[in-house]
Amino acid sequence: TKHFPVRRRLRSLLSRTPTVVHAVDDVSIALRRGRVTALVGESGSGKSTVARLLAQLYPRTAGDIRLHGTSTRVRGGRPFRAYVRRVQLILQDPFASLNPVHTVRYHLTRSLRIHGNAGTGPDGLERALADLLTRVSLTPPERYLDAFPHELSGGQRQRVAIARALGANPEVLLADEPVSMLDVSIRLGVLNLLQDLKDRLNLAILYITHDIASARYFADDTIVMYAGRMVEGGDSETVTQRPAHPYTRLLTDSAPDPERITGAGADATGAGERGHGEPPSLIHPPAGCRFHPRCPHAMARCASELPPAIPVDDHPGHWAACWLFDPATVAAENGVAEEA
Ligand code: SF4
Ligand code: MG
Repeated sequence: TKHFPVRRRLRSLLSRTPTVVHAVDDVSIALRRGRVTALVGESGSGKSTVARLLAQLYPRTAGDIRLHGTSTRVRGGRPFRAYVRRVQLILQDPFASLNPVHTVRYHLTRSLRIHGNAGTGPDGLERALADLLTRVSLTPPERYLDAFPHELSGGQRQRVAIARALGANPEVLLADEPVSMLDVSIRLGVLNLLQDLKDRLNLAILYITHDIASARYFADDTIVMYAGRMVEGGDSETVTQRPAHPYTRLLTDSAPDPERITGAGADATGAGERGHGEPPSLIHPPAGCRFHPRCPHAMARCASELPPAIPVDDHPGHWAACWLFDPATVAAENGVAEEA
């Protein structure tokens, strides 16, 4: 859970007294090595906040983050330090995350040194650098080592950012919209690279995206967020092809084309993040189900009772936080149908 304080000036403009933005509430995710988990939602749904929490960039309001079962509650403690080495964040905009006055060699050397992976002997560092660039298919390495970020294409810069993350020898990659700023023609190449690295290095990957079609293509499991809460989860094929939660159905209806990721019908501006109504204010989130003001199926209880995660169908692990899947609701509906 992460609540951000509202700045005082803004607070004085608000008539009522709440002082926090409920950016993330009760999100619980288990990442496993060798698997990609997609976290899907509109901008403002809290998915990037989840990535930053998992990267330990700021403290959480409540809850815990564990690596192999070990809590990282104590910031700066030994488990915390082990965690931040093992869990690396890749951001949307590689141009912003690389320092323009430094070469590829500088960025990668720094990562290798900080994490104690710079090798030994006179050639150790050179070999480690060449190895990193080869892993992200920037070959021959000599061609890229002394380049500055502006001399590279967007896709090459994102590959450098990935190589820098690999310099830590991580177990987990948190990839926040890693391809949404790239030309559609090169998105697939970067996603394929991540998948390849996942297999070869047995990584756990959290893939954050607003594009649910790409989750089907790229992720084993998919979790959908709405207004700071998880609303549906399960294996990607099921969640994207047989979505249960009314919000996920809205998302899949507005992104029906699985070819978007490869170029057809897509654009690079992230238009998929808009275009289906406004998400609610997270200063005063709606009571009950946060989706109820926009939900075509809303019932009376939806406005007051928060739906828990409810198993959806025969697919193990598929769940939705929606009262439509409450056995009591289902029984009542069937009863009505039988009477009719
Ligand atoms: Fe719609 Fe109610 Fe389900 Fe929320 S709980 S998605 S309002 S039917
Ligand atoms: Mg974001």
